[in-house]
Amino acid sequence: MNLQASPPPSNLFYQSRQRRPLVGEARGIYIWDADGRRYIDGSSGAMVANIGHGNEHVLDAMRSQMAKTTFAYRLHFENEPAERLARLTASRMPEGLDRVFFVSGGSEAVESAIKLARQHAVATGREGRWKIISRYPSYHGSTLGALALTGMELMSGPFEPMLRQMPKIPAPTCYLDRDDLSMEERGIRYADLLRDEIELQGPESVLGFIMEPVGGAATGALVAPDSYYRRVTEICREYGILLILDEVMSGAGRTGRFLAAEHWDLKPDIVALSKGFAAGYAPLGAMVAQRDIADAVLAAGGFVHGYTYAGNPLACAAGLAVLEEIERLELCANAREVGDLLMAELSGLKARYPFIGDVRGKGLLLAFELVSDPEFMTPLPREIDAHIHLVEEAYSRGLIIYSRRTRGGLEGDHFMVCPPLITSREQVGEIMEVLTASLDAFSD
Ligand code: PMP
Repeated sequence: MNLQASPPPSNLFYQSRQRRPLVGEARGIYIWDADGRRYIDGSSGAMVANIGHGNEHVLDAMRSQMAKTTFAYRLHFENEPAERLARLTASRMPEGLDRVFFVSGGSEAVESAIKLARQHAVATGREGRWKIISRYPSYHGSTLGALALTGMELMSGPFEPMLRQMPKIPAPTCYLDRDDLSMEERGIRYADLLRDEIELQGPESVLGFIMEPVGGAATGALVAPDSYYRRVTEICREYGILLILDEVMSGAGRTGRFLAAEHWDLKPDIVALSKGFAAGYAPLGAMVAQRDIADAVLAAGGFVHGYTYAGNPLACAAGLAVLEEIERLELCANAREVGDLLMAELSGLKARYPFIGDVRGKGLLLAFELVSDPEFMTPLPREIDAHIHLVEEAYSRGLIIYSRRTRGGLEGDHFMVCPPLITSREQVGEIMEVLTASLDAFSD
């Protein structure tokens, strides 16, 4: 007999799968539910809690800001946390990217990037440019503008009539290709699809190209060969289109550098940040732009865009303390070191479980993909619903991982193992122990 009381009916509207336990406390890489059961936060939520839970420096900074003021509208007052966070953010960006626009999340950051890019074209007399090419599959957010860039039918399907879909080129899934080319050659081939698309669309109509340097939810930590990044950059420069990087997931140290862009020395025109930027302590994101782009828009009459909560002092105080902790605790270096170990451990699973087809990623943005035939990377049959079952096996054993089954052009169950950047080598052992038990149960 099940003596557990069933949870009371909920007025919340966003649960889609099953009800989860109420959350209790969270500290470091662990979360306890209200009944005291412990879970390892093996995906940092949705790749958010980069500095771990319950960080005292951040909580103190928030408490002291709360004692002063939690809100003052930006058209009425400047606020110091926003000023300081903008300065610190700019100091972590590639040269020239020093104009910072705060928002409350990733979709807003991408939406702001779209609007700044368009306004820049208008401000510089290039009204004909409005198309932003993105990739398929991809995820850039759930607001209608960001959704027009998102290559994921599951998310955009019902809204198609309301969207002005932007052109998309295939994501560089070189690991799936079976041809005689080297990885570097494949990288060039995928990048050249951008040139083809620009020509097809008409170069004078194209505003920019947006990508995640290391893929997130849609492609499961997809990393392209170095050649891809070089060629994409060249093509953007050649056609005078903006390179927009969505670093909502890959930024804030997640891949072992503050921006994933640094691995390839990319010089983006605009960057979108969120998730690890305030690491779950506050709803916060940022759109960071090249000085001349932002200044041209300001000179032409101002940026016609805004959110009430933009630059909220409490959120910015949290974000500032989070960036300070990323530096003080040297979390980029830890993400590289612990990420290498976790990557080696995950790769080691391939020998034991033939259905693990690919292990990929950078730093602590890591994923593995399940397949029925590793030689040809054939996806598992859809009916197996691996992305649900393996996640549930892990959850029941106290490990949270993040999964997706990409719908549409690209099939495959991938699982993201992305613990907080404070994870220790010992804790990698804990994660692997539960993951292995879960894979054993899944394969039975
Ligand atoms: N861009 C990327 C790359 C993301 O991963 C996400 C969230 N998963 C978003 C944008 C949207 O962020 P948010 O959910 O905070 O609006």
